[in-house]
Amino acid sequence: MRLGVEDVRGILRKTDYRCHICRGRLRLEGYGEGGEHGWEVEHSKPRARGGSDYFRNLFPAHESCNRSKGTRTSRAARREYGYSGAPLSKEKKAAIRRRNALSGAAVLGLLGRVIWGGPGMVIGALVGGILGHGESPEGQ
Ligand SMILES: [Zn+2]
Repeated sequence: MRLGVEDVRGILRKTDYRCHICRGRLRLEGYGEGGEHGWEVEHSKPRARGGSDYFRNLFPAHESCNRSKGTRTSRAARREYGYSGAPLSKEKKAAIRRRNALSGAAVLGLLGRVIWGGPGMVIGALVGGILGHGESPEGQ
């Protein structure tokens, strides 16, 4: 599997520059390097299990995380670190934050209106928006 620098960058962006198994930070320069900061492109579904070389099956992982994953599923390897899914891209996190802000504003705005009337709605919407936006978009 031959990858150009743009492929490698695209794969890193999928997880916002994190190892898809342990979620440790990765840098473009570490690609193909050994050691604790080195990382490689990994087949989420192992080739031994019929995984493809398609972009959607490729994720960045520390060399050590990839080795210890072996032929297990990504889900099984991530479980060791308390995760089930891959880290989200920057774009996905921003979209979730926007959605959380909107629903927080709607919920607390309504609640504020019920309790304190018009001004309560404005304050509730502001507080709900801030809380919703601050909520971590990265679940499991
Ligand atoms: Zn890792």
